[in-house]
Amino acid sequence: MNQEVRTRFAPSPTGFMHLGGLRAALYGYLFARKNGGKFILRIEDTDQVRFVEGATEVIYDTLRRCGMNWDEGPDVGGPVGPYIQSQRKELYLPYAQQLVKTGHAYYCFCEKAESEEDSGEFDRADDPCRDLPLEEAKARVAAGEPYVIRQRIPKDGTTTFHDASFGDITVENTTLDDQVLLKRDGLPTYNFANVIDDHLMGITHVVRGSEYLSSAPKYNLLYEGFGWEVPTYVHCSPVMRDAQHKMSKRHGDPSYEDLIAQGYLSQAVVNYVALLGWAPGGEREIYSLPELVEAFDIKGISKSPAIFDIDKLRYFNSEYLRAMTPEQFAAVAAPYIRQTVHNPAIDPAQIAPLLQQRCEVLTDIPEKVDFFDALPEYDLALYTNKKSKTDPAVSLEMLHAVRPLLAALPTWDDETLLASMKELAERLEVKNAKVMWPVRIAAAGKLVTPGGAVEICRILGREETLRRIDAGIAKLEG
Ligand code: GLU
Repeated sequence: MNQEVRTRFAPSPTGFMHLGGLRAALYGYLFARKNGGKFILRIEDTDQVRFVEGATEVIYDTLRRCGMNWDEGPDVGGPVGPYIQSQRKELYLPYAQQLVKTGHAYYCFCEKAESEEDSGEFDRADDPCRDLPLEEAKARVAAGEPYVIRQRIPKDGTTTFHDASFGDITVENTTLDDQVLLKRDGLPTYNFANVIDDHLMGITHVVRGSEYLSSAPKYNLLYEGFGWEVPTYVHCSPVMRDAQHKMSKRHGDPSYEDLIAQGYLSQAVVNYVALLGWAPGGEREIYSLPELVEAFDIKGISKSPAIFDIDKLRYFNSEYLRAMTPEQFAAVAAPYIRQTVHNPAIDPAQIAPLLQQRCEVLTDIPEKVDFFDALPEYDLALYTNKKSKTDPAVSLEMLHAVRPLLAALPTWDDETLLASMKELAERLEVKNAKVMWPVRIAAAGKLVTPGGAVEICRILGREETLRRIDAGIAKLEG
């Protein structure tokens, strides 16, 4: 029987989800779902310098909004918990001791170990503890001397590991450091904890960022030291801001949460991020989450770094907005319309249809529809338009002609409004645009508007439309 696929997402609770993290989560999720396996959430909160309030909730919230449900995790439990690393801290020492016993690790009492334990810069050639007889080391531990436990890397030879996207990688053991596994305070380093946790949790495929690639040979030596099966590694190349720089929140690049705040839809971000470094093959780009599951294959993961392209994401987002039902779109657009349209007499649901085909990101909306709330100050030059053959003088004439017609309309809907303006154009033997352009400018006070004269007047209502036409006439009469 085939082994059940078990993948995990192991974020550190930083308070935000960077896109590389989201992508690792996504690939782990897609792979598990594709293979009918389990997707596990493990919170890695031991290597944190600072506790970030609410950071674990951010992780839950993000995964949920993206539709990535997990089968085991801190909140839902599971057979191999706890799923929060800080609640597992007791369990690492015996494993470190086991490695000491088998010679794959050693006690180190050096002063400098403390300051350098996280940097990996410790030169084992100088470390007198590496060759201490075990009995002597144990006696010092028993006497209460502070110590760390270091991995004993072979002095010669090479270590080879396999990665699903990078293939076989072989390194000289002399390039690997005797990294600290257990710190003086008894807590594991990330490099130790992830091996123990992945093993105890039965993880079969480890999907993570390629920043861990250089540590992978040391992980392999640990697995070998324990005699455990090495999981399949799937390292993903970094998400780049440009050809030279990795994306970084510190340098202002957006996290998932930032993108949502900027008006992107979760599904669009998920779809876009999935394709950053993975190609399903073929031309198709728009995939829902279930479709991604269906299409996912580790073979499609690329070794080359992927450059984050916000314009491309905007395009994905506009496709998702367009694909919504009008009701769905109105629901997501309403709060953005309300940011500038406060007038309670105007229903955002009336404005939404004008926007669905005309916005890429929801945050485009407030600025596009602000004129519904209040007529902006505008320049008379807006009345000049070559194509519609209008200028301020023509516009004044048209507004004078259209005003009484609009005032007398029996009903106020698109058909009636359109018919009256067309009739006027016919009567005056001019193109429709010659009537519509001035009406739209007078009604909106803006050059570019979602919707034309008819829709704008209809939404504003008769009273407000006439008021604005009067204001236009007054302005044109100067
Ligand atoms: N806690 C690590 C991180 O957030 C996890 C890396 C891994 O997936 O092993 O980068």
